[in-house]
Amino acid sequence: MTQNIVRLSEDVINQIAAGEVVENPASIVKELIENSLDAGARKISIRIQTGGQQLIEIEDDGCGMSSEDAILCLERHATSKIRTAEDLYALNTMGFRGEALAAISSISHFELKTSDGNMGTHILAQGGKIASISPMARNRGTTIAIRSLFFNVPARKKFQKSPSANTAQVAKVAETLALAHPEVSFVLKSQSDVLLRTEPEDRKKRIESLLGPFAHEVEMSFLQGFLSSPQNAKTHRRNQFLFINRRPVFSPVISRAVQAGYGTRIAENHYPPFILFLTIDSTQVDVNVHPQKKEVRLSCESALFHKIESAVAEAFAPQSFSEPISFTPHFTLAEETFPRPQPPSFQEMELPFEIEERLLTVAEHYLLIEKEGLIAVDLKAAHARILYERLAEKKGSSQALLWPLEIDLEDEDLPELEKMGIECRSIGVKRIAIDALPEGLEAEHFASFFSAWKEQKTIDTAAVRFCYGLKKNYSSDEALFLWRNLQKCRDRLYDPLGKRIWMKIRSIDFEKMMREAAKSQEKK
Ligand code: ADP
Ligand code: MG
Repeated sequence: MTQNIVRLSEDVINQIAAGEVVENPASIVKELIENSLDAGARKISIRIQTGGQQLIEIEDDGCGMSSEDAILCLERHATSKIRTAEDLYALNTMGFRGEALAAISSISHFELKTSDGNMGTHILAQGGKIASISPMARNRGTTIAIRSLFFNVPARKKFQKSPSANTAQVAKVAETLALAHPEVSFVLKSQSDVLLRTEPEDRKKRIESLLGPFAHEVEMSFLQGFLSSPQNAKTHRRNQFLFINRRPVFSPVISRAVQAGYGTRIAENHYPPFILFLTIDSTQVDVNVHPQKKEVRLSCESALFHKIESAVAEAFAPQSFSEPISFTPHFTLAEETFPRPQPPSFQEMELPFEIEERLLTVAEHYLLIEKEGLIAVDLKAAHARILYERLAEKKGSSQALLWPLEIDLEDEDLPELEKMGIECRSIGVKRIAIDALPEGLEAEHFASFFSAWKEQKTIDTAAVRFCYGLKKNYSSDEALFLWRNLQKCRDRLYDPLGKRIWMKIRSIDFEKMMREAAKSQEKK
């Protein structure tokens, strides 16, 4: 009998591994950026030519490697990141398999320049074989250049996408990793075009600068991020970004949980754009199930599903005013006993509403509160201030409408509406559909708000005109609601056009007024 089984050579093993780890330029860029992040880099620059076919070069300012490590790193299963199998269950690095550099260098012309702060090392390799090693002077950090990708794997080379498709994929990979690492600055250049450039910033800013603003925010201890409005759902999942412990992953389960949280707000076969960061105990997630670590296995999947579903649903829930309203109407001042005050002396101070303060009454659009004297609150002014801050600062979340509202307006005014957190889209010539309104602006009132806004198209006059025209009389509940919400405003003293919202009349002011009233009577 002839022997058919032979042991594969190391070269062939590496090439097989390369088939799993490095499919295309984008997967190479992913491995290299992850290595730079693992090395603690704060600045990562990537350069590609012809979609990565001709050149992929990545430079970082991370910890670099000693010359011994530089030689070792090209070997398969050479890693500085784990030592034992147990380490796999408490990973806090992106890499751990020790396969990427061996695989990448086995199918390219590979150049490594690295220094850990001491004398640097320059290594050239071809098809995984080291061709030269020499010392070189360089700052701490690592530069890796990959040329002639797949030069020795013609079959794979043939199946590569076009340079422009590869460039787009590389850009997506770099963008995704940049989203999860806002503290790192990234530059990506293709030929001479800059495709990505970021400065260190906080997470929210990074997300906004790369993906633009989102309508809804999720802020839980285990889940943070942003959700698009239901109206922006797409027929594909390309705009869904999920990170588990900062690792970008694809998880159909979590994607479905998010979808479930949107409930009936989106149509079937539509997928909401989102970016979510899930933080879970690293022992609960197995990342060692996919060579490119794209997929993960989660324990307690169904519990997690429900937690995520309700976290997402909560992001849409109207922020109801949940504090119990506990006031005890003590006695009611008859209207004529309410003095028409001369401008009294009032203190410019904060007036948080407390239980000891007593709501006396609501007289038309004034709320009267007893507190070391009397506080009179102009409820229309208070309402205008609250609404103004919500619209101008996009406080609170927007509320999707069951039925879109349609209005006549030029397309060019769309951005102005969006600035106020009104989600809208053009549906024809001078015709706009409103899909969601910011908190505090109800659908039934939108028409009158809109006509107030149209006059000057500024938020402050719109809020004032609308609120002053809204109603004449307020209930005690409405009055308290406004007074409490006013306490949360940045400016609690003036409406958006500068009219005073409340004033305090002390007992001595009353006495003064009484004396003046008596004096003027005497004169008569
Ligand atoms: P892994 O990341 O799974 O450990 P790699 O093949 O990607 O395997 O890298 C092998 C080793 O080379 C790493 O464990 C690390 O020690 C070293 N290394 C790779 N890239 C860099 C880099 N940019 N800076 C410093 N060290 C690096
Ligand atoms: Mg790696």
